[in-house]
Amino acid sequence: MVSAPDAGGFLPFARPDIDSEEAEAALDVIRSGWLTTGARCAEFERAFAEAVGGAHAVAVNSCTAAMHLSLEALGVTRGDCVVTTPYTFAATAEVIRYFDAVPVFVDVDPETCNIDVDQLTETVERLCRRDRAALPPAARDAVSATPPRVVMPVHVAGVPCDLPAIYDVAASSGAAVVEDAAHAFPASIDGRIVGGAVADGVRSTVCFSFYATKTITTGEGGMLVTHDAEVADRARLMSLHGMSRGAWTRYAEGGSWRYEVVAPGFKYNMPDLMAAIGLVQLSKATAMTARRAEIARRYNDAFHEEPSLQTPSVPQGAAPAWHLYMLRLREEAVSIDRGQFIVELGRRGIGTSVHFIPLHLHRYYRDHLGYRPKDFPVATAQFEREISLPIYSSMTDRDVERVCETVLDVVDLYRR
Ligand SMILES: *Cc1c(COP(=O)(O)O)cnc(C)c1O
Repeated sequence: MVSAPDAGGFLPFARPDIDSEEAEAALDVIRSGWLTTGARCAEFERAFAEAVGGAHAVAVNSCTAAMHLSLEALGVTRGDCVVTTPYTFAATAEVIRYFDAVPVFVDVDPETCNIDVDQLTETVERLCRRDRAALPPAARDAVSATPPRVVMPVHVAGVPCDLPAIYDVAASSGAAVVEDAAHAFPASIDGRIVGGAVADGVRSTVCFSFYATKTITTGEGGMLVTHDAEVADRARLMSLHGMSRGAWTRYAEGGSWRYEVVAPGFKYNMPDLMAAIGLVQLSKATAMTARRAEIARRYNDAFHEEPSLQTPSVPQGAAPAWHLYMLRLREEAVSIDRGQFIVELGRRGIGTSVHFIPLHLHRYYRDHLGYRPKDFPVATAQFEREISLPIYSSMTDRDVERVCETVLDVVDLYRR
């Protein structure tokens, strides 16, 4: 049966699973009279660190802030190389540019869209040999330091990267690791939780996002997790103006008015109002993840035998966070392209999104790094056929069925 346009109203692509429990927690903070960073924030940091098995957690107002603070704490400076992939959101590479450092992109694995470990290894080896041809063509003169200072893998859709291999490459080249785990709470691979990775001799942080569409949300928010006490201390200091003492210790009972600015820091602290919401979201994370995994299973069942659709691949031993359900169209099997497919779904009331427009296709990175579309063929090809379907815990079974039916209806209508 072909579903009529707009049957059942519009199903949004994303919607936070948030209710009166979060509202009560926020109201308690408002009534307490202490709105900014304080006791709730410290509690959220402790609980989150415990949830992912990290030694230290610093709550901030975005994942972007967490990644910026990580690179600062790890000593990234002008002319350094930082290796990452183009298959990510703007934030991952922009924080590298904040330092006038140079993002060196590596293509992705066609199955997971996570960084291709063989190509990462090759690129890092070339940078270690000071092979300047491994650098972005328009940025060769801007680079003063090879080998790379940091490697930034992205756990796309919440599917964990091959962390042991990535940490090995980092260890062999003296690079640090900053994981973009914006999609990856909670996720694990071979029983190792994303956020808890430790590797001898590699300094690292793992950065999470609590943006409104992410797996747990505080509206806006982020968390930097690390085993490195020095990195944690530096990030905390720089998250609040580089002041040797935060507002909490200044304005609390018995606090001192004295503080000293020891570096030109940033304004990245998380307010207690957000942390209180985060604590409630954290307590619901297991149930919300289970529901997203259930939705993914239903989508897989509905689509895996359809020759024009490719369902997501999950590496052996991985438990993804299922932040995204990245469906891919086999364009040779249907007469419409991905863009038209999205229009057809939208006309039938299904909200979707695309992850990601690879960074090397954006004007800023074309102009400033000199990359061309053909430089990362896997990233470009996956982007062109990708459609992210709604996957959030407040979806009803009927919502899920409707997505399945509508996708299959559109496939049937345009099958070659
Ligand atoms: C959302 C997102 C970010 C940024 O998170 P914010 O909390 O909004 O700063 C970073 N990387 C990826 C891959 C993302 O999807």
